[in-house]
Amino acid sequence: MNCAALVCGDTAIAIDCGVGFTDEDGAELVHPNFDWLRAQGKNLRAILITHGHEDHIGALPYFLEKVRVPVYAPPYAATLIEDRLAEHRLEGIDLRVSPAGSREQIGPIGVERFSVHHSIADATGLILDTPVGTVVHTGDFKIESDPCEGQRFDRTRLEEVANEGVRLLLSDSTGAEVDGRSRLERDAEAALRKWIARSPNRVVVATFSSNSFRLRAALRIARERGRKVCLLGRSVNKHTQTARALGLIPPVDSLLIAPEDVDALPPDEVLILAGGSQGEHGSALTRLARDDHSRVHLEAGDTVILSSRIIPGNELAVLDIINRLERRGLEVVTRAEHPEVHASGHGSREEQRTMIRILRPKAFVPVHGTHHHRRRHLELAVEEGIAQTKLIENGSVLEVTRDALRIVDRVATGRVYIDGMQSLSQEVVAERRAMGSAGVLTVLLSFKAGRLRHFPRVVSRGVFDVADRTRAERKIAEHARDRLKGRRFASREELEEAAIEVARRFLVHNHRKRPLITVDVNGES
Ligand SMILES: [Zn+2]
Ligand SMILES: [Zn+2]
Repeated sequence: MNCAALVCGDTAIAIDCGVGFTDEDGAELVHPNFDWLRAQGKNLRAILITHGHEDHIGALPYFLEKVRVPVYAPPYAATLIEDRLAEHRLEGIDLRVSPAGSREQIGPIGVERFSVHHSIADATGLILDTPVGTVVHTGDFKIESDPCEGQRFDRTRLEEVANEGVRLLLSDSTGAEVDGRSRLERDAEAALRKWIARSPNRVVVATFSSNSFRLRAALRIARERGRKVCLLGRSVNKHTQTARALGLIPPVDSLLIAPEDVDALPPDEVLILAGGSQGEHGSALTRLARDDHSRVHLEAGDTVILSSRIIPGNELAVLDIINRLERRGLEVVTRAEHPEVHASGHGSREEQRTMIRILRPKAFVPVHGTHHHRRRHLELAVEEGIAQTKLIENGSVLEVTRDALRIVDRVATGRVYIDGMQSLSQEVVAERRAMGSAGVLTVLLSFKAGRLRHFPRVVSRGVFDVADRTRAERKIAEHARDRLKGRRFASREELEEAAIEVARRFLVHNHRKRPLITVDVNGES
C-alpha cells in the first residue's frame, strides 16, 4: 500500500495511492490512513502514479471519494484507473495521462517521468526538480540487460540528470535480499515455451494478469504451437483487452476460444490463461483446482504452470491448489522447483547497485518493501559510498535541505480496512476481532421508570458449546437479574453500561471468556 508525499512550501504532491491485500478480520483490502494527506486540503495539488499495480493505484477510489485532486498516470495505469473509478461510480475525476518523457510543473516542483523495466507496461520513475535540488523516485523497477520488446529503461536520460547532480534518490527496496541480477522476462518466456512444448495435453498458464509481457509471451507460444487460447477469469480478460487496446500485444481474436468450446478441441490444441495465481477465493485457478468451474474441467495428464511468485500470506491457498491438482493426476510446474518459469518485476541487489551508480546521488533513502528490505538496501548504498542515508518508517517526516537530511517529525499513519466497497473503522475491526476470537453475547433487557422490568434474556453465538448453551445463557440472565433488580438507573445508557459490566465480569470469572457483549434495552425511561 504505497503512498508517499512530497511537500515544498505550500505545495504538496502525493506519489502513488495503493492498497494491500488481506484476509484479516474478513476484510479484502487495506489502505493507508489518509487523514494527514486529506488535511493538506488545497495544498495537495496532484497525485502522481508511477505504474498500474494495485499496491500503487488501488486506494485511489477511496481517497478520491472525499478529496478531489488531479491524478497523473502513465497510459496503462490510466486505463486501469478509469475502469476502477467507473466501478466506484466516481465521476468528474481529473485524470491526466502522462507517459514517460512527459513534464509537468506543479507549483515549485517540476515533474519528469522516465521509463523503468518492471512487470507491468508503462512503469515509470519520477525526476522531481525542487528548489533544494533534484529528487529521483524510482517507482518499482528492475534493469534488464536484454529487455523484451516494449520494455524501456531511460538510462541515457538518468545519466544526464546525474551529470547535473542528484540531491536525493528514493529507490525500490523490494529485491534487496536477492543477490545478483533478477531473471529476464525473456528467460521466463523461454521456460514457458519449453514446458508448453513438452506438455502432451491441455496446458494452463496462471500468472499475474497485469503483466502484459507474460500474457504476450503465452499468446505467442500458443500461436507457435497451434494451440487456441481460452482466457479464464475477469482480470485476464480485462488486462488482455487493455493491452490489446494500447497496442502492447498483437491482434488475438483469431486465437481465442470461449470456455464452452474448450472441450470440443483436442487437448493438445488448447492453452488456458487463468487468473488467480495467488489462490484467491473464487478465482479461475481455484475453481479449476476444485473442479467446480461451470465450463472447463481439467483432467489427468493436463499441465498447470504457475508462472508467478507466491505473495507472502498466500502460501497455504496456493499449496492447496497444487495438492488438489496433483491428487487428480495433473502435472504442476511451480517456481519453487522450476525457478525459470517466473521473472520478478523487482531488481536484485546488482540492479539496485547499478541505479545508485548511474545517479550518484548525494543522499539515499530506501523505499518500498519491509523494514528489513530497506535496511539491506541502505547497507548497499553505504557500500557504494553514499554519504547521507536515512532509514524511514511509515509516517516519518524527512526534511531535505540543500545540505542536510533529517527526520523532523512523525505523523499518524495506520491501516484502514475495506470490506466490499466500504471502509471499516477501527471500532468495527475491533468488534470483528472480539467476535472472531470469542463469539458474541447479547443481553436483552426491558426498562421502565428507571428500573429493570421482566427477567433478562441472553442470546449467544460462538461462546459456549451448543449442548451447554441454553443453560449457560440462563445462568448469565439469572446473574444479571440478581445484580440489576432493585437498582435505579438515570437513563437507559446507564442500565446498558451496568449490564455489560455485569455480563463481562461473570464471563471472565466463570468461563475465562471475553466475547463481544452487546445489550439491547427495550422500553422508555
Ligand atoms: Zn509494481
Ligand atoms: Zn509495488
